[in-house]
Amino acid sequence: MSLSLDLKYTHLVSTRFEKFARKGDYLFNVRCPICGDSKKNKAKMRGFIYKKGNDLFYKCHNCAAGLSLGNLIKQIAPDLHKEYVLERYKTGEDGLSNRGHKAINIPTPRFDKLSTDLRYDNWERCDRLPAGHFCLNYLEGRKIPKEFYSKLYFTTNYQKLCDEINPNHGKEKLSADARLVIPYFNEYNVLTAVSGRLIINYVMLWYVPMIVKKNYCMAWTVSIPTKLSRL
Ligand SMILES: [Zn+2]
Repeated sequence: MSLSLDLKYTHLVSTRFEKFARKGDYLFNVRCPICGDSKKNKAKMRGFIYKKGNDLFYKCHNCAAGLSLGNLIKQIAPDLHKEYVLERYKTGEDGLSNRGHKAINIPTPRFDKLSTDLRYDNWERCDRLPAGHFCLNYLEGRKIPKEFYSKLYFTTNYQKLCDEINPNHGKEKLSADARLVIPYFNEYNVLTAVSGRLIINYVMLWYVPMIVKKNYCMAWTVSIPTKLSRL
């Protein structure tokens, strides 16, 4: 879809070039609008719009400019650029894929192995806390939907918990206080990190993260992320 959209916009901007010629289905030769091409020879056309993957790109053999079609449009026809970006979004493109990024292959999450019931001595799942517990009061105060309580934990001693989960965490300053614990999982539902949220705001270290497995960024998403965007 993006290729036909790119072709449509190539035609729309064709009049913005000093010289424009179609050389193939997905190949166009132009006089480079970035460097102006040759000053002496008005006939020179060393810019090419060409196909790479499912997108069109621009390359000039005089100034070596290399751009996505989107960025070329931005330079030579800024009035059309917004429209182009909007149309790419509408067709399901993210507006970024036309920059030559390689597609990121994200493995399908294996929910069958979801480890929402990790057993550690030093924490308790929030949905198992007794009614009226101050951690539950905190969750209620932050309007966390009850269906997510089973995904969150409470510890009376965050330092002990971190030592238990990962004895080699290497952190010297881990608070030995009670915290709400937010676990992080990778795509295979392996615990990769935890973050301890202080329940009583009496020091600056509200959130203290601890990485269990390296090379994973910490991100927490659920089906209703807006409700949990500020834990
Ligand atoms: Zn050029």
